[in-house]
Amino acid sequence: MKLTIIGSGYVGLTTGACFAEAGHHVLCVDNDERKVKTLLAGKIPIYEPGLEPVVRKNVASKRLQFSTNTEEGVAHGEVVFIAVPTPPQADGSVDLSFLEKVAREIAVCLDSYRVIVDKSTVPVKTGERVAQTIRRYAKPGVEFDIVSNPEFLREGSAVDDLMNPDRIVIGGNSDRALALMQKVYEPFVAPVLVTDINSAELIKHAANSFLALKISYINAISEICEAAGADVEKVAEGIGMDKRIGRSFLNAGLGYGGSCFPKDIAAFIAIAEQLGSPFTLLKEVEKINARQLTRFMDSIREALWLLKEKKIAVWGISFKPNTDDVRSSVAVNLIEALVKEGADVSAYDPKAMDKFRELPVSKKVKLADSPLAAAEGAEALIIATEWPEFASIDLADLHKAMRTPMIFDGRNLLESGAAQTYGFTYRGIGRGVLPAPA
Ligand code: NAD
Repeated sequence: MKLTIIGSGYVGLTTGACFAEAGHHVLCVDNDERKVKTLLAGKIPIYEPGLEPVVRKNVASKRLQFSTNTEEGVAHGEVVFIAVPTPPQADGSVDLSFLEKVAREIAVCLDSYRVIVDKSTVPVKTGERVAQTIRRYAKPGVEFDIVSNPEFLREGSAVDDLMNPDRIVIGGNSDRALALMQKVYEPFVAPVLVTDINSAELIKHAANSFLALKISYINAISEICEAAGADVEKVAEGIGMDKRIGRSFLNAGLGYGGSCFPKDIAAFIAIAEQLGSPFTLLKEVEKINARQLTRFMDSIREALWLLKEKKIAVWGISFKPNTDDVRSSVAVNLIEALVKEGADVSAYDPKAMDKFRELPVSKKVKLADSPLAAAEGAEALIIATEWPEFASIDLADLHKAMRTPMIFDGRNLLESGAAQTYGFTYRGIGRGVLPAPA
C-alpha cells in the first residue's frame, strides 16, 4: 500500500520505517527542513536501537522516502497518518495547534478519498474536531474518513514494539476506512481491537496513566520502606510474582519523565475535569512522582550539607536507557536543581549528550567522555538513568577516582550491598542507607 506519515519524529520516522519494512511504500513528511535534509543525506536524526539499518534498507529499495511537502504526502498515501507533537500547555491541557494545522493543510489538498489517521496522543473527542476542520477547509464533496490509531511504542525498543506489537487499536466508524486499516496492519501478527474513535483515543491516555500509576504506587511504597527499614526491591519482587499484578513498571526510583507520561497524565487530568469527572487518583500519582525528586534532593543535602561548590557527578541524562531523548527527563530536572544550588556538576550519558547540549542548563555542566571521567574528584555520584553500562563499572576504579566515595542510586541500578563492600556509602531508593564499612 502507499502510506504517508506527516510528522517524522520519534514516532513518525520509526513507524514509517517499520511500515516500509513490512512491504508498504511510505512517504515520511516533516516541516522541519533540517530534519528532512539529514534524512535525505542518509543520516538518522535520533538514536533508536535498530532503526538505522531498517531506514537504510528501505530507502535503498525506495520503499521509504522523505519530503517537506504535505501536498505531495496527501497525493501519495491512500492512508495518511498524523504523528505531530501534542505538547502540554501551562494548565496541563494539550496544545492541539500542531494537529489542527496539519488537518487544515491536508484539507486544502484533498482531491480524492483518503483515510486520515491520528497517531498522535490526543484528548478524547479530538477525532470529531479533526473531521469538522477537514470538512470546513476541504473542497465540497471530497470524501475522507477519520481513524484513531494510538501508538504504544516505547522509545528504546520502538522498532521491536512496532514490528511485534502487543495489540493494534483502530478506532473508526466507517467500514471503508476500517477495511483499509486492516490491510495496513495485515503484515503484522498482533491482536487487532476495533473500537469507536472516542474509545481508541481514551485507551491511549488510560494505558499511560495506568503505567504511571504503577510507578507512583511502588514509589509510595519505597517511602514507607525507607521509614520502616525494608527493601523496596524485595517488596516489588514479592508483589510482582502475583500474575494479576506483574513485576513490570514496579521499579522504584526518581519517578517517571520523558515526552509522554508527564504530559499524558496532566492531559488526562485536564480532560476528566473538562468532562465533569475529576480524576483525583491521577492527581495523587503526579504528586507522588514529584515528591520522589524532592525526597532524593533532601537525602543528598542531608549527606553533603550544602551543595555549593561540591563536585557532583551525574550518570545518565536521557529520560530512560537506550534513547537520546532528554525531553522532560527527570535526570535533567535533577541536574537543574543541583546547578541551582551551586553544585559543580559533571555528567555523562552514552547517547544523550548531543541533545542535552541544546538545553540552556548544559552551559553550566561539564560533560565528560566516560562515566569514570565524570566521577573524577567527585564528592558524590548520582545514578540518574539506568543505562546497563553503569552497572558493570569497576567499583574499585570508581572508588579510586572519587574524592569521597558516596553513591546516590536514583534508579536502584546497583546490587544492594555491592558498593558498600568497596567502601562506598550507598543510598538507593526505598533501600535505606548502607554506610561504608568502618
Ligand atoms: P517528535 O517531536 O519527535 O516528532 C514530531 C514531528 O512532527 C517533528 O519532527 C516535527 O517537526 C513534525 N511536525 C510538526 N508540525 C508539522 C507539520 N505541520 N507538518 C509536518 N511535520 C510537522 O514527537 P514524537 O515523540 O514523535 O510524538 C508525536 C506524537 O506521538 C505525540 O502526540 C506523542 O505524544 C505521541 N507518542 C509518542 C511516543 C514516544 O515515545 N515518543 C509514543 C507514543 C505516542
